[in-house]
Formats: sequence, structure tokens, C-alpha cells
Amino acid sequence: MTPAIDAEGLTKRYGDVTAVEDLSLTVAPGEIHALLGLNGAGKTTTIRMLLGMVRPTAGRVALLGTRVRPGTRAIWARVGYLVETPAAYPELTVTENLLVAARLRGLTGPGPVSDVIARLDLGTYAHVRARTLSLGNAQRLGLAKALIHRPALLVLDEPANGLDPAGVAEIRTLLSELAHDGVAVLLSSHILTEVARTADRISVLADGRLVWAGDTGDLVAQARPRLSVGARDLGAASTALRAAGHPAEPGHGTCLVLTGDHAIGHPDEIATLLVAAGCPPTRLAVEQDDLETCFLRLVGTR
Ligand code: ATP
Repeated sequence: MTPAIDAEGLTKRYGDVTAVEDLSLTVAPGEIHALLGLNGAGKTTTIRMLLGMVRPTAGRVALLGTRVRPGTRAIWARVGYLVETPAAYPELTVTENLLVAARLRGLTGPGPVSDVIARLDLGTYAHVRARTLSLGNAQRLGLAKALIHRPALLVLDEPANGLDPAGVAEIRTLLSELAHDGVAVLLSSHILTEVARTADRISVLADGRLVWAGDTGDLVAQARPRLSVGARDLGAASTALRAAGHPAEPGHGTCLVLTGDHAIGHPDEIATLLVAAGCPPTRLAVEQDDLETCFLRLVGTR
């Protein structure tokens, strides 16, 4: 299957500033992929390079099987995007803005506009001037414009910006429906808990570099509970634990970490075992990171 996004070795330098370095990314049709990173990590620059808005210093991009180069035109009819604050004609209504967007896309008839108004739940605001829309509804109008031509690839920079929790949930449902229909979605965010509920796969950026990429489930699994064990002789404790079928890994600081379900559920048995082996625990605690802590550890701020 031809990937919807196939980027290799993308690099962007602005003088001494390296905004993105050697980033490779593949997104399949029907996949929701999140670019996750703190402010300044390089998400917007990456998205702009993917969309041909910024010329990469190095690397190459293909969208829907077509290489993106200056002057590439045909693919944009199959790509929808929303990058940074959505712009609208302030004095035109929502419907009028969408009619303009449809015309620019070469779409005819009222069908595409009414379809997208229904899909984005903008009916109540159809005749409201864009300048009076709340931030969340302006974002919804931006999304409607990005979707009006039923693209095969949708690229969204921080789509949840300005939306209330109900709006975020609506976007999540909308993106799942689109992906179910085979649309590939790339979105950026700085909130792991938000993308963990939306994305199938996540690429984590820090200082312009890819620091982690994989299935969302694998990232969430890093937040699973563990049993942290302290002992005066960690080597002896580790040997005793391993002999009893509880392999331990070195943890942060002077402790061992056990991730087996039995050990986590029965810390008393672990304590008894260590006492019997002559290395009583100095500390025993079941710990669990929240998702944000996991993310901050990945990007190196914790
Ligand atoms: P945010 O969430 O704040 O939008 P981001 O992850 O999208 O952050 P980018 O906007 O891609 O990050 O910026 C990455 C780095 O590149 C930053 O250090 C930024 O200052 C720098 N940068 C981006 N555009 C330019 C430019 N036109 N000239 C110089 N530096 C730039």
C-alpha cells in the first residue's frame, strides 16, 4: 500500500538554528499519526516541510505516492490541511466562507458545503459572520475548509487549540470516522494524554529530533505500574529475585524495578523472599507514572 506520507531525512536549518534534524516519518492510509512535542520541538516546521510550504535543507517528502517539489500541483487536490490559526474572511458568513473555499477547490453545487457544515456541526452558525465566531468555532470552520474536498490525507497543526472538552471529543470522533473511511491523518500536539486517545501511532520530537516513534499502546504501556525495591546490596537482591522468578531491572537511583504482575500485586511476598535471602528491603513501593511524566521523561525534561 502506498503510504499517505513518506518522509525521509527531513532537516531544516535557519542559520545556526536547526529546527528539524534528520526526521523520517511514514503514515499509512487510515492511520491517525500524532507528532508530539513541547513548544519549539519542530512540529510546525515539520508539517510545513511536508506540505511544501517550507523548503527542507535536506531530505525528501512524498505524499500519496507523489514527490513534493516546488511546482508540484496535482496532489494538493487530495490533501487537506489546517496549519496555525485558521484564517477566514471576517465579514462573510460561515456558509459564504465555505462557498469560497469550495470554489477555490473547483467544487460545484451546494452539496460539498452543506455536507461539511453537517459533519462539523456548524449548522447553528451557518449564517453567522466569521469575525464573531468563538475560537473553537473558528477552528471548526478551518477544519471544514480542510475537509470540504474530501481529502485522502488530512494534516492538522494543533487541531484541539481553543476547543473546549466537548469540542475536543467531537474532533476525536470526526478523525476516527475519517480514518475508518481510509483517510490518513497527521496531527500535532503538545499534550500526550490528548493524542493517546486519538492517535494510532505517535512520533515524539524534542529539539527537532525524533526521540521515540511507535504504537500509542507501547507509549502508554510505559506508564504501567512497577514495584521499586531498595536494598543495601542490590546485586545480591537482584540474584535472589531472579532465582525466585522475578527478574529485576536497575531503576533510577539505588533501586531495582520489577514489572511482573505478580510482584506488583504481592509486594509482601517480595519482602519475605528478600528477608529470607539475607538482603532485606530498605524500601518497597508500587509506583506509577502518569502519561505526562512519561512524555517529559522521553523528551528529557525529567
Ligand atoms: P510550537 O508548539 O511552539 O508551535 P513547534 O514544535 O511547532 O512549536 P517550530 O515552530 O517548528 O516548533 O520551531 C522549531 C524551532 O525552529 C524553534 O526553535 C523556532 O524558534 C525555530 N524556527 C522556526 N521557524 C523559524 C524561522 N522562520 N526562522 C528561525 N527560526 C525558526
